Amino acid sequence: MHRILITEDEPRIAAFVKKGLSAQGFMTEVATTGESAITMVLNSDFDLMILDLGLPDKDGHEVIEALRGQGAVLPIIILSARDDIGDKVTGLNAGADDYLTKPFRFEELLARVNARLRQTAGHSQTPEAEQVLRAGDVVLNLLTRQVQVGRKTIDLPAREFTLAEVLFRHSGQVLSREQLLDQVWGYDYSPGSNIVDVYVGYLRKKLGNDLIETVRGMGYRLRG
Ligand code: CA
Repeated sequence: MHRILITEDEPRIAAFVKKGLSAQGFMTEVATTGESAITMVLNSDFDLMILDLGLPDKDGHEVIEALRGQGAVLPIIILSARDDIGDKVTGLNAGADDYLTKPFRFEELLARVNARLRQTAGHSQTPEAEQVLRAGDVVLNLLTRQVQVGRKTIDLPAREFTLAEVLFRHSGQVLSREQLLDQVWGYDYSPGSNIVDVYVGYLRKKLGNDLIETVRGMGYRLRG
């Protein structure tokens, strides 16, 4: 299981990222200052760090320089509200591996985290078992992002695929609308929106009516 350090002083964002990554099976810890992040990375065995640039005690670039100067090789993904190109270049030059601008969607962060971890593992392909998710006669291929329904192969728009992926990963469990909103749409949505219900409707139409069960008052469940 991969361990990820989230260096972020904004509690709402730290909690959002932590919750999302934990739901995907990552072990996560949060550091709220640059100094504590450096100490944690150097004294523990993290596989990746997500790093905010505007920290209370240090600039994120200084954190990267300090870590790379001490020989830390873990992938670092900058997650920052600053989107000016100079900051990106400085961050990448300092030794960051990737850069994501706030506001961001969880699915995008997750894709980058997975890409970095695959690279570090030294293989560009995950084993077959991790590339596909199955339920009944529906198979989700995470590499090609295609879905097979019986003998038919279909392409889903990105958001529908992500919703399907989240449901498949939690097959048999009830997921609330709020959990699905968080994981698929990010923190940037209007509460009370019925977008989840609308998209579940799209998936039922394409993948089969019985696949996703409505659990009254609670949410949705994929029949495993
Ligand atoms: Ca900050």
